[in-house]
Formats: sequence, C-alpha cells, structure tokens
Amino acid sequence: MTDTELLRFITTEDKEETGELFSRARAVREQHYGKAVYFRGLIEFTNYCKNDCYYCGIRCGNMKVRRYRLSLEQILRCCAAGDMMGFKTFVLQGGEDPYYTEEHIREIVQAIRRKFPYHAITLSIGEWKRESYEAFFRAGANRYLMRHETADGEHYARLHPTWQTLEARKQCLFDLRDIGYQVGSGFMVGSPFQKPQDLLEDLHFLQQLNPQMVGIGPFIPHADTPFAAYPAGTVELTLKMLALTRLLLPKTLLPATTALGTIDPKGREKALMAGANVVMPNLSPVGVRGLYTLYNNKICTGEEAAECLLCMQGRIHSCGFVPDMGRGDSLVALKTP
Ligand code: SAH
Repeated sequence: MTDTELLRFITTEDKEETGELFSRARAVREQHYGKAVYFRGLIEFTNYCKNDCYYCGIRCGNMKVRRYRLSLEQILRCCAAGDMMGFKTFVLQGGEDPYYTEEHIREIVQAIRRKFPYHAITLSIGEWKRESYEAFFRAGANRYLMRHETADGEHYARLHPTWQTLEARKQCLFDLRDIGYQVGSGFMVGSPFQKPQDLLEDLHFLQQLNPQMVGIGPFIPHADTPFAAYPAGTVELTLKMLALTRLLLPKTLLPATTALGTIDPKGREKALMAGANVVMPNLSPVGVRGLYTLYNNKICTGEEAAECLLCMQGRIHSCGFVPDMGRGDSLVALKTP
C-alpha cells in the first residue's frame, strides 16, 4: 500500500470501505494464525513511576494515586494461580519504579523461571540500559513489551516531559530486538494532538522495527492528569489501525486491548474481527487492580482472574474464534544475534 492509500484508510469514514478493510485483515490473520486467540496473564506488580507521561494516571506528578508494590511472594502466587488456570505466559508490567534495581528484577525473573521452566516470561517495565536488558534476558525473560506511543518526535514531545525522548525509547526497542527478545511495540490512538500523518509514521516505524507484537489501544483520559479534558480515541480509528497493522505486518501478534474494551463493551470482539489475535486477562490480586489506573473506567478491576478467563473465553467463542492457552509464540522471526 502506498502512503496515500494508507492515509485514505486512516481518514475514511465510509462504512463499506472499513468493513472491507476489516475482513481483509481477518483473512490475513486466519491465513497465518487460523482461528486461535492466545492468552497472556498480566501481572501489574507496581504502580510507582518516576516518569511523568501526561496521559497516564500513574505518572509521578499524580499525587492522588495510592501506590502499591507486590512482593516477590505475591508475584509468584499470581503466577501459580495463572498456571493452574492454564496460562503459559506471564507479563510483568509496572511503572518505572526506582525501588527495583537491575538486581531485583533479575531475582524476580529468576524465581519465576525456576518455578516455571517452560513458560514465556514477558517484561513491560519501560526504559533500562542495554546491559540491564541483557541481564534480564540471561535470567530467563523471553519477551518485552514497550510501546513507542507515537513515532513522531514533535508529537512525542507534546505527550511527555523534555527528559523523556522518542530517541531513547526507540533505542531501547532496537536494543531489545538485538538481544533476542520477542519484542512488542505499539501506540495509542487518538492521543491529544495526534494527526493522521503521525499514525502513518507509526506504521512506518513498525515496518522498520518489525516487532513480534503490536499493542494498539485508544487513548482514554484520566481525571488527575493534564489531559483530563481531552476526548478519548475512537473505536473506529483504533480498529482501522489494527487492521492496517495486520495487513502491513501479517505475522505479528495483535492484542485486543483492555482500553478498547473500556470505551466499547464489544470493543475486544470488534478487534478480533479486525485482525487481532491475543487477549491479556489480568492476574493481579483483586485488592490492587483498581490502583493500576492508567486511565479512568478501566474494566475488569473487580473480578477474580478465573472469572476474567471464563468471560474472555466466552467472548472469543461468541465471535467464532478459538481460545488457545498455549505460549502463542509470534511467527515473526527473531533477529539472530
Ligand atoms: N512503564 C511501562 C508500562 C506502561 S503502561 C512502559 O513504559 O512501557 C502500558 C501502556 O498503557 C502504555 O504504554 C500506554 O500506551 C498505555 N496508556 C497509558 N496511559 C493511557 C491512557 N490514558 N489511555 C490509554 N492508554 C494508556
């Protein structure tokens, strides 16, 4: 597809055209992954963060959040509960919490690896130096999720304080890929000041990085951030970006995100119908779920993990797909070091 064609899809509101786009994306996904939808168990282990991303509810500048941190024992209990339910992938996500040194994270990864030798261990803990990423990898981490958020430098600067740069974030992603991680990047749709051209740049950047997974979700305002008064991204535009990503990176994994499920009760089902093939139910203890509030009205904060699992399996069946509790490795080849 040419840039002109991509921009046309990004901006069109023609239902027939977008319907066509979604079914093409669905066909490409089926060609590579069949009807399987893979599960990842998400463990949100800390909401402390030293960063100050203007869109995010757990930014350091938000004095109203009650902060929490899970102990290693709590994390291992979440993993064990997930394992009992059949999860083969754990995603450890958190703010950039200065309490955790490289050594700490290494110990957590090692402890999980010892108990679960065959599970995929995914980290989503932001920017570290290359040596730390290498240490986590040696300790047993296989995958790393870190969205680039927006691939346009000027736009990035409007979403973050000056000390957080797009260059640093991109460098981390290339380092992770070179080390041999299965890498997930991605971006928010409809974040403040975003232009169609920025979304085109997101697609270009993804083609350059060629990640194993791409997380795409709508921006949703959080009341205690500088972006409280900005409107959320739309379902339609998010679905179009998912479908275009599926067409440009046919073998990548695409999650149907919680954010999409938050702005539309059928958002995740619609994502599956537009090329998505992964879901990430929450395994965090119910007591802290409500505290990991990146945005307002986040769904699934009240249920136990087992309820979330059943609910997701039902949703997947309801739109003709098949829940798959395997590791769900990406078909995108790893960069060989
Ligand atoms: N500290 C980690 C994890 C960030 S939270 C890191 O730096 O990667 C995971 C993702 O939530 C972010 O990458 C961002 O894209 C998304 N997010 C944060 N605030 C959001 C909001 N207000 N609306 C929608 N998505 C948001």
